[in-house]
Amino acid sequence: MTSNSIKNNFFDIYKTIEQNAQNAGRKAADVTLVAISKRQPMERIREAVIEAGHRVFGENRVQEAKEHWTNLKAEYPDIKLHLVGPLQTNKTKDAVALFDVIETLDRPKLADALKTEMEKQGRKLPCFIQVNTGDEPQKSGVRVEDLTDFLFYCTKECGLDIAGLMCIPPADEPSAMHFALLSKLAQENGLAETSMGMSSDFEKAIPLGATYVRVGTALFGERD
Ligand SMILES: *Cc1c(COP(=O)(O)O)cnc(C)c1O
Repeated sequence: MTSNSIKNNFFDIYKTIEQNAQNAGRKAADVTLVAISKRQPMERIREAVIEAGHRVFGENRVQEAKEHWTNLKAEYPDIKLHLVGPLQTNKTKDAVALFDVIETLDRPKLADALKTEMEKQGRKLPCFIQVNTGDEPQKSGVRVEDLTDFLFYCTKECGLDIAGLMCIPPADEPSAMHFALLSKLAQENGLAETSMGMSSDFEKAIPLGATYVRVGTALFGERD
């Protein structure tokens, strides 16, 4: 894959986002593209930053994110890095130091650890609560019926900054109903942001209100 095609991929996806936003009567600027760089070679990641000029990225593992982003973030301080994978409490220190947004807050113990670590480091990162909209036993995320109590715990007990909600729909169900549910839950709970939609379905998430879409392979090509 040449640098040209990474850059073109970004511009194609920007255009698709813009068209889908327009068709839905929304502003393209209200939909942020989180480029998911997990398991991609550094060469492609640097192309996205340098050639395409993109600045918002996502990773699903803390250790790999450190390898990908420690130097690039020092070089380009306006890069914003989202954690989109599960976070173990023993990694919160590194996660709070490196990331700018935590999208996968899903349990009280993690809320406690994030509160402690953010206070210690003087970094108050916006967080998304991950919701298990498909109620899948193997998947992270709070259950829909526990969301309001958990949100209260995060904001009132822990003083965390909860920006919105995030979901990963079940692989074998139409994602649109999960996107609609997540938007409704965000609205009911007074939250402005929703992170939903990946390469295969971000176009469906935009008319359903996504303010962040997380796209990997459509930008970078197949992962290792
Ligand atoms: C890998 C990943 C994505 C991107 O998936 P693609 O299908 O490559 O676009 C989005 N969200 C999460 C949480 C991921 O882990």
